[in-house]
Amino acid sequence: MVVEKELKIFFFIIANNPVYYSPDYQSILNMTEPYIKGLKEIPKTSKYYHYSRGIIEGLYVKTGRLKNDLWLKDDYKPGVSYYEDKELNSFYMRRRAFIEILEQITSGLPLSEIEALGTIGIRASELQPATYFEISGGKMKTVEYPSGADVTSNKIGGYKELIGITRLGFLSLTLFLANTKGGGKDRIKKCPICNKFFPAKDTKRKICYEKKCINKYHKDDMKKRRDINPVKYC
Ligand SMILES: [Zn+2]
Repeated sequence: MVVEKELKIFFFIIANNPVYYSPDYQSILNMTEPYIKGLKEIPKTSKYYHYSRGIIEGLYVKTGRLKNDLWLKDDYKPGVSYYEDKELNSFYMRRRAFIEILEQITSGLPLSEIEALGTIGIRASELQPATYFEISGGKMKTVEYPSGADVTSNKIGGYKELIGITRLGFLSLTLFLANTKGGGKDRIKKCPICNKFFPAKDTKRKICYEKKCINKYHKDDMKKRRDINPVKYC
């Protein structure tokens, strides 16, 4: 499924990568790195490409990566601004709510009992491209308008990209859950070793695919066996 390829891991990126308040400009730069990397994986052919580019642009601007850009207004000074306390706190709260939903899903709670999912569904719908009609070349045509494109209107004081990140995450989670054929909610797991959320390739998987976690799991497992049967596993 194409959509899954494009957006499926984005909500995992949000769940596993915090952006905390930090007076250290450099650390904000590093913290936004995983988001930029994840957004860059969304291909040009995706309906959500414009939206994702808008977020990247916003992150570039706020972290000072983007310089001498013509569309920037005069009041913008590149490389000097970083997120304020208030902005990061509001991102932190949205992210926290998001993680709570994932905790509920991984604990096996039925989706119908997770109230916040309703709100997330509505937010996700808002990012769906809308269709409009246009006469072009003497013919009536239907055109898809990327409704999420307004994130590109980022300016200093706008801070829209942080909202964009969580909204795209809501959409990503919604699409993942809606893809019931692909396993849906049963493929969302939390690794008991590193505590990170991950997309399991099969629904029985418990440990994530990081080498460190797999090694630790086998080591602990071997120790357990040795404790039970010291002669056989010495
Ligand atoms: Zn792990």
